[in-house]
Amino acid sequence: MAKLIDGKAIAAQVKDECRRQAEQLKEQGISICLAVIQVGSDPASSVYVNNKKKACAYCGIESLAYELPEETTQEELIVLVKKLNNDQRVNGILVQLPLPDHMDENAVIHTIAPEKDVDGFHPWSVGALSIGLPGFVSCTPAGIIQLLKRSDIAIEGKQCVVIGRSNIVGKPMAMLLLRENGTVTVAHSRTKNLRELCRQADILIVAMGKPRFITADYIKPGAAVIDVGIHRNENNKLCGDVDFDSVEPVAGAITPVPGGVGPMTIAMLMHNCVCAAKGI
Ligand code: NAD
Repeated sequence: MAKLIDGKAIAAQVKDECRRQAEQLKEQGISICLAVIQVGSDPASSVYVNNKKKACAYCGIESLAYELPEETTQEELIVLVKKLNNDQRVNGILVQLPLPDHMDENAVIHTIAPEKDVDGFHPWSVGALSIGLPGFVSCTPAGIIQLLKRSDIAIEGKQCVVIGRSNIVGKPMAMLLLRENGTVTVAHSRTKNLRELCRQADILIVAMGKPRFITADYIKPGAAVIDVGIHRNENNKLCGDVDFDSVEPVAGAITPVPGGVGPMTIAMLMHNCVCAAKGI
């Protein structure tokens, strides 16, 4: 039976640490403020934005919400981002993705000042991660590193396989595992022999967006399995990219869905906001 990696408990630890650091900063006269911009009213985005506001309130971080109508132009959004870049009170700026189709997400993200890029999506942040400079790291993969470290799962020298090469999960995940001295392989939709590759992994990170795709036959006995996927199954219950019931008896450690990677994403956003206020 695998050890269950409790993302809820670890996220609570991280948020409590952020709350204490925010209190200490306040004593030094430094307040923390996150600006969250949402364009349109996509229900999933609204849930995420709301959860971010709640986490800010818990950690003692001020949050400013900008809810813009769907028909906002890219130019209007960029004007707002530039205004927030110049607002001394604001430490972090987050533009909730996805943006409506008439906008170029890259053009908007590139406008965020790198020192306020708490999502870690700006090319400057991505480049800093690649060459080992300080900078903001995408929250989901940063959270996965915390899940592993705080569960005493060693990364150094381990065979790590990351399934997925997206800019927000797969690629930064691979860079972070490399920074921790893992031996890293990135698999993607054109990878051949995915099963054999996964069976070599001591640490398997699954971010492929395919419900319950990874079954027990993909797992090296005793491996740590981190499931990034979030889906609703046929009974409207949450499930991941990993078939938990078949994998759990084979793995050494595993994250559940829900209660694994999900809670870490917002906790690491809070961590990034604290870092932004400290000047990283
Ligand atoms: P994405 O769709 O951008 O990327 C999926 C990746 O999986 C691609 O690189 C693709 O090449 C790879 N892939 C697809 N099919 C494959 C196959 N058969 N074999 C090997 N590789 C394959 O997705 P993403 O944004 O990286 O998200 C992945 C999953 O994680 C989604 O379910 C998403 O909802 C979830 N997610 C969760 C959180 C969280 O906080 N828990 C955050 C971000 C994303």
